[in-house]
Amino acid sequence: VSLNVRSYLKSNGLLTLSIIAVVTGCMLGFLLRGTHLSTQAKIYFSFPGELLMRMLKMLILPLITSSLMSGLSSMESKACCRIGVLTVTYYLWTTFIAVVVGIVLVLIIKPGVGTDMESHRLGGGPVMTSADALLDLIRNMVPSNLIEATFQQYKTDLIPILKVPARTVRPNFVYVFPDESDPKGRTVYLELTPPPDITYKTSPGSSQQMNVLGIVIFSATMGLLLGRMGERGAPLISVCQCINECVMKIINAAVWYFPFGIIFLVAGKILDMHDPSTLGKKLGWYGITVLAGLFVHGLILLPFFYFVLTKKNPFTYIRGLLQAMVIALATSSSSATLPITMKCLLENCNVDRQIARFVLPVGATINMDGTALYEAVAAIFIAQVNDYELDFGQLVTISITATAASIGAAGIPQAGLVTMVIVLTSVGLPPDDITLIVAIDWILDRFRTMINVLGDALAAGIIAHLCQKDFPLSGAGKTPHVHNN
Ligand code: ASP
Repeated sequence: VSLNVRSYLKSNGLLTLSIIAVVTGCMLGFLLRGTHLSTQAKIYFSFPGELLMRMLKMLILPLITSSLMSGLSSMESKACCRIGVLTVTYYLWTTFIAVVVGIVLVLIIKPGVGTDMESHRLGGGPVMTSADALLDLIRNMVPSNLIEATFQQYKTDLIPILKVPARTVRPNFVYVFPDESDPKGRTVYLELTPPPDITYKTSPGSSQQMNVLGIVIFSATMGLLLGRMGERGAPLISVCQCINECVMKIINAAVWYFPFGIIFLVAGKILDMHDPSTLGKKLGWYGITVLAGLFVHGLILLPFFYFVLTKKNPFTYIRGLLQAMVIALATSSSSATLPITMKCLLENCNVDRQIARFVLPVGATINMDGTALYEAVAAIFIAQVNDYELDFGQLVTISITATAASIGAAGIPQAGLVTMVIVLTSVGLPPDDITLIVAIDWILDRFRTMINVLGDALAAGIIAHLCQKDFPLSGAGKTPHVHNN
């Protein structure tokens, strides 16, 4: 028995430690809640967790650029095209299914019907069209300044109306609100790009954010073209491969710090959370609806698609991803989890390296099934609280805008909460009502991030299986492990 336990711990040690860390963090957080720590003390207490987030974020830029450039440069044009089309189609399709699951559940459970909640009842027609949302998305795909795209900085109080941190917003995002103080009800445009003549100071509440989508598009284009440059492209390709291997080595070393960081990350968050007893019944049902939707989509539908398309056991595959899912739960950020998802796919799931290098960074940026599902549920919940009847056309609008809003959300904590403005305004619901769901958003965010990560990883497994013939020498499941601890 002791031999069995030892061999189990040897292969699952890190995962076990991470799970223990999440539980310890929860207990520590609840224990310390009664002690009313000062803000300063909380900052010191959360410091190991902050370091963990910083480590993960540090790795995102080199990992995404080197993965995409080295991955795409070594693929044949035909294979690139096939994988690109398959990946984007699969991502859009599964996101749309997630939205439908959310809509069906929220219409059945009806969490917002009843009277224990007040809305802001601003009224007014749609103030931001889906076309605006689409333009914003495309705007982000083409960063005007690539260097700036890697270190955008925002001040937290840039969106006073929403009272959510501006750091969760994509660069150049334009929000449109009806101006209550204007007797003519004219519309106010709030552009979130800091004017060039103002420098913002970084304070504990503000943070930096990358335009990951822009960086993904640029790196993918570079990778595609490098591969077609023959001898002249070779030096840069080998630099990218070298950076990629180096980043994976850093990840392998850094993961041993993670359990320690997770304890304080989770405990710090629990110290800050609202008192659960003050949350109304409706909000509780809303949370249950989102969680039920995430469960159905992530643990029934996605595994079913995986099984149908690959004829392999999805749960064996998901077991290899548990480490990434624990990190997603602890960090609420699919971008920050990306390095660990990559490690799990290569080391535990044996997915082809070239496929993982393309499918994962793109997925972490545009494929957010959990976020899309949550956006649809939240929008319909807010409509129910407002006694606002949605017709079929509006449900279709919600499904399209929720899909677009999830693509537009950055893979960082609570980004989906902000991009939900697009969904609400597209059907004439008051964007201020986002405040109704803020209290439990941080916890739902953790679970939807897990499903976002799971969706990307299952997609990589499916695409690798479907494209086996494009990589006859290193087909899915046969690639040797690149990096060992
Ligand atoms: N936190 C989510 C992620 O990083 C995005 C969101 O739904 O807010 O995937």
